[in-house]
Amino acid sequence: MPTNYSDRMARVRAALARERVDALILTPGANLFYLTGFEHGHAYERLLALVVRADGSSRWVIPTMNTEQVRPHLGPGQELRPWDDAEGYLPALRDSIAGARTIAFDDDARAAFALDLLSVAPGARIVKASSIMRPLRIRKDATELASLRQAAGVVDQTIPFAISLCKPGTSEAQVESDLRAALLKRDPTATVPFCIIASGPNGAFPHHETSRRTLQQGDVVILDFGTRNAQGYYSDITVTCCVGQPADPDVRKVYDVVHRAQRAAIDAIRPGVPCEQIDRAARKVIEDAGYGPHFLHRTGHGLGLQGHEPPFMVGGNKELLEEGMVFSIEPGIYLPGRFGIRLEVIVACGKSGAERINAPSAPQLPIAAT
Ligand code: ZN
Ligand code: ZN
Repeated sequence: MPTNYSDRMARVRAALARERVDALILTPGANLFYLTGFEHGHAYERLLALVVRADGSSRWVIPTMNTEQVRPHLGPGQELRPWDDAEGYLPALRDSIAGARTIAFDDDARAAFALDLLSVAPGARIVKASSIMRPLRIRKDATELASLRQAAGVVDQTIPFAISLCKPGTSEAQVESDLRAALLKRDPTATVPFCIIASGPNGAFPHHETSRRTLQQGDVVILDFGTRNAQGYYSDITVTCCVGQPADPDVRKVYDVVHRAQRAAIDAIRPGVPCEQIDRAARKVIEDAGYGPHFLHRTGHGLGLQGHEPPFMVGGNKELLEEGMVFSIEPGIYLPGRFGIRLEVIVACGKSGAERINAPSAPQLPIAAT
């Protein structure tokens, strides 16, 4: 089913009116892509922006050199305001927001554009564009869910190969390189935005940077990887395995605790449940097992056109789950100097409970043959 961009634009206009925002400014990124299908990674310091006004008008402030790339994405009634390098973008920005008292500005834009906006709109109230875009993007429709499932299938099908890469004498960097190649082979239209390989004591760092460390017999290895498919949707999964039988006697016990924590969180999912309760469900299992201080992060994050987006499964978040929300469940236990274990899958909140986007995490520690 093709994406209905005019429907999305209509919902943005309704949100602008409801939130009393006079103008919305989006730069290349997930919000602009969601609203128009336009994507461009090379604008850098040149302002390329869609300005949507509450009165219904909208215009692209666009470097002259990119005009023809934007034209296919031009919505009905939208105008182009090209600017060239000698003119600079300030005049175009100034007259695009003339008279606006409250302006929603893209959260992910370069800080320099925000500072320029403050200078050309003195006295205007600047709010985050997420105040408008977040409620639109947080519930995924059937087309988006299908795309997320496609992306998840690519990582799911690569798990056995990923585990088989974990051999003694192989470096983390080599595992990453081979895993990236396998993901791209499975879906040549995808990209691999991240791939974390954390072996042995490196596993105790939840967001380790893959290093040149060589895997040893008995190491626990965390593999956290994902893709972005041609429709712009992400996958994200974490598998923990062992290079042969575990050297540390506690590995299997800790793996079981993390797996039970993940299952408890997934079992707690249903519409109307506060996000903090999902975090609590996982954390309780880990605390009861005596590892509370070693669970160093929230239980999960939303996933869609961004790798991390709302809703967040975190203590204190009273936001209620709604059908169509998609997020990770990824409890972990990190033991400094020894090893770490994290198990991550993506799930959707369905009508009466969790619906799986990924296949379930392995209930028992996977052992890589050595
Ligand atoms: Zn992940
Ligand atoms: Zn994640």
